[in-house]
Amino acid sequence: MSASRVAALASADGRAVAEADAARVFVGLGSNLDDPARQLRCACRALARLPDTALVAVSPLYRNPAIGPAGQPDFLNAVAQLQTRLPPLSLLDALQAIELSQGRRREQHWGARTLDLDILLYGQEALTLPRLCVPHPHMAQRRFVLQPLHDIAPALQPPGLAPLPVLLAHCPEHGLERIDEEIDIHDDA
Ligand code: AMP
Repeated sequence: MSASRVAALASADGRAVAEADAARVFVGLGSNLDDPARQLRCACRALARLPDTALVAVSPLYRNPAIGPAGQPDFLNAVAQLQTRLPPLSLLDALQAIELSQGRRREQHWGARTLDLDILLYGQEALTLPRLCVPHPHMAQRRFVLQPLHDIAPALQPPGLAPLPVLLAHCPEHGLERIDEEIDIHDDA
């Protein structure tokens, strides 16, 4: 790897996050309450500010009918790519703190929420811990995860799973619709 590539990723605190000692992580974002596009934008700013972490890419945004309890508003979903030195459980803690800071309440399972952040993939790790499973156990069944993941990392091979195009070919359509709105990863307003 060239030195310029290593130096290319800088976390918000200005420190370089070298690829050699950091994990490539994909985080799923979802919101269906309180201006979902704003929630996702705000969450990406928070991801970019995590210590020892660089926000590398954010997918397009998708509108997606809610699964779970009926009568919920549609979700907006996206996937963010990070380069991080945070260990998996520290990253999970940090994501849950971001959810809470954006008004997330853990009430109804699969119910409406201001913000949901899931660790989809943590490098090539396969973890089954009480608080954390990666790859995320439901990702292969969720087009609102697979499609934005494929948009930003088409050649990705998730550990223990088929290549993304194969997973997508077997995943139901479920009314996913790309919307005409983008998140600028350099927007730090
Ligand atoms: P949810 O209601 O979808 O936000 O689920 C949150 C719960 O799932 C938390 O208690 C986490 O500890 C647990 N969990 C297990 N695996 C993951 C993962 N890959 N990403 C996020 N949360 C996870």
